[in-house]
Amino acid sequence: MMKSDPQITQWVQQTPFVDTHEHLIEESQRVSGVIGRWLPCDDWTYAVRDYVANDLAVAGMPKTELQSFLGPDLSSVVKYQLVAPYWDRIRHTGYAQAVRHTLRGLYGEDDLTAESVPRIAEKYRETIQPGFYAAILRRANIENCQVNSLQRIFMETEQPALLAQDLSILEFSRCSAADIARVHAETGKQPTTLDDWLEIIDFYFATYGPKAVAVKCQIAYSRSLDFAPVAKAHAARLFLHHIGKMRHDLGSEDLKSMQDFLFRYCVGKATECDLPVKLHTGIVGGHGMLQLAHTRNNAADLCRLLLDFPDTRFVLMHIGYPYEQEFIALAKHYPNAWIDMCWAWVLNPAASIRFLKDFLLAVPADKIFTFGGDYVAVEPIYGHACVARRGIAQALSELVGQGWIAHEEIPALIERIMRGNALRFFQKGQ
Ligand SMILES: [Zn+2]
Repeated sequence: MMKSDPQITQWVQQTPFVDTHEHLIEESQRVSGVIGRWLPCDDWTYAVRDYVANDLAVAGMPKTELQSFLGPDLSSVVKYQLVAPYWDRIRHTGYAQAVRHTLRGLYGEDDLTAESVPRIAEKYRETIQPGFYAAILRRANIENCQVNSLQRIFMETEQPALLAQDLSILEFSRCSAADIARVHAETGKQPTTLDDWLEIIDFYFATYGPKAVAVKCQIAYSRSLDFAPVAKAHAARLFLHHIGKMRHDLGSEDLKSMQDFLFRYCVGKATECDLPVKLHTGIVGGHGMLQLAHTRNNAADLCRLLLDFPDTRFVLMHIGYPYEQEFIALAKHYPNAWIDMCWAWVLNPAASIRFLKDFLLAVPADKIFTFGGDYVAVEPIYGHACVARRGIAQALSELVGQGWIAHEEIPALIERIMRGNALRFFQKGQ
């Protein structure tokens, strides 16, 4: 390890990120401040909860205290008293380091302390007004974001130039009771046969495909990424058992087969619409739920998909952490695999620096996107971008210092990995 080169650091600071992955809710909802599922409290803890809340829970903060900390009912002073002992334990993790950058950059405070918290609470409130998303992203030197809305399958955003939107294919391929209910709530349609469901999928692609920047699927939270080819007639029978007149619960193997068919159908649709397919890979968010046996096989499982869909552009998110070396192998070997470092910088900053160095010496430089905050709130994007810039500057400084890349080649490389790759890749009709 060595200190970053000041010139490289400056180039990285000056280069805007194209942010390829967020879950931002609409700004107008933040401004209206109505407490609900997506805005469970409207105070400074909303701006720090992702993903620090998970570290707090893992550090031993009792569930009820954590809920109160993230809820709407307590004063800032009481909230600070609750979190203080656990904050001390987590302050060096990537999640918490990003929060501290956010506190510094947006509120002018170095840390959470008994003195600073009332001031932070006040500044949080002052910040929230129309236009604050653009203002915070500008301060973070972020050109625009790609948003995977958790509220809608496709969000018709009020700010399409700033917040490009993914079309979610999770609901179509997972096809749980909740997914079907969401589709019903959005469209009024109630499928009884596989053909009904495919018609609904076609409707979403026809309606929102032209506006979407990509499709996104986090089905890796609930199953393996091994999607086998399944005959339509078989899938149709399974669908009838799953949802139609012959309704009963499918066993796990049958459910997998039905989802395999649906997922591959969506990949085909995305490819027809020239939309890249973004897939969650690697460790999952939250805490106390990781099934490492699935996660460990993500890269190997994906080979079938990469082979069977050579014309589809797959974006493998989060570097597949903690199996990132296998994802370097995928991106090196398959022309249709790209890697997105979204979320990775705060999951593990040191691993991300090593990853970027390894990647750049092994894989064509156009196959990586280096930033996505992966947040529901806009504020922490600022701090995450600081951590990412620091990591990129360090990785590139080390590569130059060790003689792998010439100093004068660095500006073009920075432009490519922070911005240019994403601009070119996500442009339609290429
Ligand atoms: Zn995400």
